Amino acid sequence: MFSLVVPIYNEDKLIDVLMSRTIAAIESFTKDYEVIFVDDGSTDQSLLKILRWREKNKKIKLLSLSRNFGHQAAYTAGLEYCRGDIVAMMDGDLQDPPELLGEMYRKITKEDFDIVSGKKTGRKGKSNRNLYSILFHLVFRHIGDLKDMENYGNYSMMKRIAVNALLSMKEKVRYLPGLRTFVGFKHGDVEFVRDDRFSGKSKMNLRKLFRLGADAIFSFSRFPIRMCLILGTLGTLVFMGAGIYVLISKANGTAISGWSSTLLSIYFLGSVQLVFLGIMGEYIFRNYKESQNRPVYFVRKFYDDNPEK
Ligand code: UDP
Ligand code: MG
Repeated sequence: MFSLVVPIYNEDKLIDVLMSRTIAAIESFTKDYEVIFVDDGSTDQSLLKILRWREKNKKIKLLSLSRNFGHQAAYTAGLEYCRGDIVAMMDGDLQDPPELLGEMYRKITKEDFDIVSGKKTGRKGKSNRNLYSILFHLVFRHIGDLKDMENYGNYSMMKRIAVNALLSMKEKVRYLPGLRTFVGFKHGDVEFVRDDRFSGKSKMNLRKLFRLGADAIFSFSRFPIRMCLILGTLGTLVFMGAGIYVLISKANGTAISGWSSTLLSIYFLGSVQLVFLGIMGEYIFRNYKESQNRPVYFVRKFYDDNPEK
């Protein structure tokens, strides 16, 4: 069986187009499928609209979460509930064109890949995240432990073995494109131009984007914490030198009795310490999140005919 997981958060305006394009795309390569829409606490008509489609086609399933948990959590929920041998992840705003599913499916079944990712070769239209996204990737390219993440997003298809590997990683801070690279397996791409969102606004506000970016950096990079050590050591060396200089000039009797230099070094050291306390805090906070061990999401209801869970 083939499963498609689509997270939905307040997308009622595009559900109809999404459904018809998605179902047509899937039925062009298989009749044995399920599409799991994960309703991530939508407050509009999304849920009703999906259920109306489900009346006509029971292969359309709906996993309704108890509130908005964010799209990485929604994907995780869908991956845990789907039962396909081949599973795809696709955004629900039509930025990931459903028509590409056929090509991914062909690649995964005929060319024996375990994971096929959509590789963005361009973007249509403008979106508010561009600046943030550019900045994030500029930083991540240099310090992330993952190579070439820039052109990959959530759009992908995996065999069961890779899905299980992905789900066996129980960490709470979930950056799925990163985890997907981490698991390894035989990896292929399908190139595509990312469409502009079909309707409505991006549901990733700056706060959510920032959190996603920070999760990616702090869970896939050792660089920030290594910076603490490097700069800390450098700082200590510089100030030891400065201290010796001060002592020598004191002994020579040429010491300047200025308070500005004192104040400057206090400011400098103070701010460096604050920055690095902040970085340590980021790691400690994530560590704390993991140790809390809270579920990533709660399900309110799963609309499925023969749910095993
Ligand atoms: N989404 C979600 N929960 C959220 C935010 C977004 O399920 O808290 C869904 C959204 O409905 C869409 C997908 O995740 O199907 C990608 O979101 P969006 O297009 O807003 O993100 P962007 O493309 O701007 O990164
Ligand atoms: Mg989008």
